[in-house]
Amino acid sequence: MTRIFDDPATFADDALDGFTAANRRYVARVDGGVVRSTEMDQGQVALVIGGGSGHYPAFAGLVGQGLAAGSACGNMFASPAAGQVYRVAKTAHNGGGVLLSYGNYAGDVLHFDQAQLRLNTEGIETRTVVVTDDIASAPIDQLETRRGIAGDLTVFKVAGAAAEAGLNLDEVERLAQKANYRTRSLGVAFNGCTLPGAEEPLFTVEPGHMSLGLGIHGEPGISDHPMPTASELAKLLVTTLLKDKPDDAGTRVVPIVNGLGTVKYDELFLLYGRIEALLSNGNLEIVEPECGELVTSLDMAGVSLTLLWLDDELETYWSAPADTSAFRKGNVAARAHRDVQQLAAATETAAEKSTTAAASLSAGAVALLEAARSVVMEHERELGRLDAVAGDGDHGIGMRRGVDAAADAAASAAAAGEGVDRVLLAAGVAWAEKAGGTSGALWGSGITAVGHSLGNRETYGTAEAHAAAEAFHAAITGLGKAEAGDKTMVDALLPYVQTFTEGNGNGTALAETLTAAAAAATLAAEQTTELRPRKGRARPLAEKSVGHADPGAVSFALIVEAIARAYPELTNEKEHTHE
Ligand code: ADP
Ligand code: MG
Repeated sequence: MTRIFDDPATFADDALDGFTAANRRYVARVDGGVVRSTEMDQGQVALVIGGGSGHYPAFAGLVGQGLAAGSACGNMFASPAAGQVYRVAKTAHNGGGVLLSYGNYAGDVLHFDQAQLRLNTEGIETRTVVVTDDIASAPIDQLETRRGIAGDLTVFKVAGAAAEAGLNLDEVERLAQKANYRTRSLGVAFNGCTLPGAEEPLFTVEPGHMSLGLGIHGEPGISDHPMPTASELAKLLVTTLLKDKPDDAGTRVVPIVNGLGTVKYDELFLLYGRIEALLSNGNLEIVEPECGELVTSLDMAGVSLTLLWLDDELETYWSAPADTSAFRKGNVAARAHRDVQQLAAATETAAEKSTTAAASLSAGAVALLEAARSVVMEHERELGRLDAVAGDGDHGIGMRRGVDAAADAAASAAAAGEGVDRVLLAAGVAWAEKAGGTSGALWGSGITAVGHSLGNRETYGTAEAHAAAEAFHAAITGLGKAEAGDKTMVDALLPYVQTFTEGNGNGTALAETLTAAAAAATLAAEQTTELRPRKGRARPLAEKSVGHADPGAVSFALIVEAIARAYPELTNEKEHTHE
């Protein structure tokens, strides 16, 4: 349990403030997380890591020389918001591009991807390597769907050292991918963990037992076992991990024994001794091992074993010096401190001003968002009720919060003279940050992508509108990975884009195409009634959902209908002002 706090709601932020105060030598606090407080070389790749709080030293404890340039720190066990990742990355960026790296969890992927889109849009080249080391979370042929646990450390360490050595973004990305591909972990839990202020642990393990393959947020394990001896536990972890080793593993390996929060160091060392003996007896060469708390889960009682299978270049970067609050290796030549607050302020570059013609078009984007706002408010309750059938009932309120924030942000950006691209960027970011939930992240990135696609032109025609609809579609499916028939908003979106494509192909006027595409979306949204959800929160209650339309598909159809109705008025007004 957690004993020391003032208000559980601000626990993560309060702890991060204190962490920064205690570690100014390594980090400085910025909005959304921390960045390294020491100088970096101009053109050095910025490794930006992150995730939920409650996993110290992951993630803020791994920021410093030879490791990460910044960390976005979410709430307890919750992904940082896209805006947090964006702000940390923007301050950490030092002219060499950004590599985002974090454990593979759906919420983190949504938010980091959205930040990446925004950074790339602004000309900061950004790539991503997600960590997928947990062998218990998916079979070996689905490696890329595995979750990330203590293997975070090997990937971050290799990427951070490569960045510090001055390698370019391509190389840092390649090495991070290789480290991830050659890292395997397996964990066990002896007991659960409790969020600050919570009455109950997130999960429990039967006394005298351990759960094999348990995730770091209470995700269920793969099997329960009576509590083994240390030697038996070592054997179980080693043999299971060896069965899963990469094809070209070689014989040199870094073992990492990681404590999850409340296992004593003496116990970890004892276990490490048994593990090292087993590996050595298997004719493996041990290289620079680690034993301690490296990726924890609040007060969870548990341990994990990670194996990083080295080759020459991975060994170089794994062994390179590093100096962070929680991880030190070798001797680094200490760098001077820099003024991070000034840096953060300087990165808020003045927006390029749009031309008058481009700015006047922004009013159109604002008007369409206003139309979306009205229709969402009108149907908020109905959307909530639909989501309550098999989801969590928050789709109405989430959409309202999102569209409210988006319409407001768009209006102020337009009032400041911004073009359509920046107006929609502001709207998309505001939507994702205020809405929360899956649909918030999806709509936020969709709107941002539309802005990016439309760009800062002075006129727009059917072809541009078509490209924007396709960009919306690409962002939603790229982020959410839903396919036709999964019972999501994509089931309404696909026929919408198809009809758009047809209209664009045969030269139909935009107003007519918008109306036809919206009608196709509405029909498709109604037809989701027959489907069973295969994505998102509604999946576990799939049967209950049959007979009811998908809330996300319905809200999409409502919004595109509203846009189709509002569009002709825009063009009328424009003609009017031209008279
Ligand atoms: P949450 O599920 O996080 O509570 P909402 O209730 O706001 O979020 O949104 C639920 C809707 O999100 C679903 O009805 C579905 O249309 C949509 N959705 C869920 N997962 C996906 C996905 N992977 N891709 C596209 N849409 C999705
Ligand atoms: Mg919901």
